Amino acid sequence: MMVPVRCFTCGNVVGEHWEAFESRVDEGEDPSDVLDDLGVDRHCCRRMLVSHTDLVDIVAPYQ
Ligand SMILES: [Zn+2]
Repeated sequence: MMVPVRCFTCGNVVGEHWEAFESRVDEGEDPSDVLDDLGVDRHCCRRMLVSHTDLVDIVAPYQ
């Protein structure tokens, strides 16, 4: 599904970083370095992006 807008634990906005995170990791950058660069420091927020799988395009036709 779509990436959650806010961190489930602390409520910090993380959804705004998803597109930059995904594209930079696809280009071969280390996810840890990308998150540091984006300013996502807390591990509760980092897991929101690291553990996300974008299934929205797969699920959308079945709604
Ligand atoms: Zn958090």
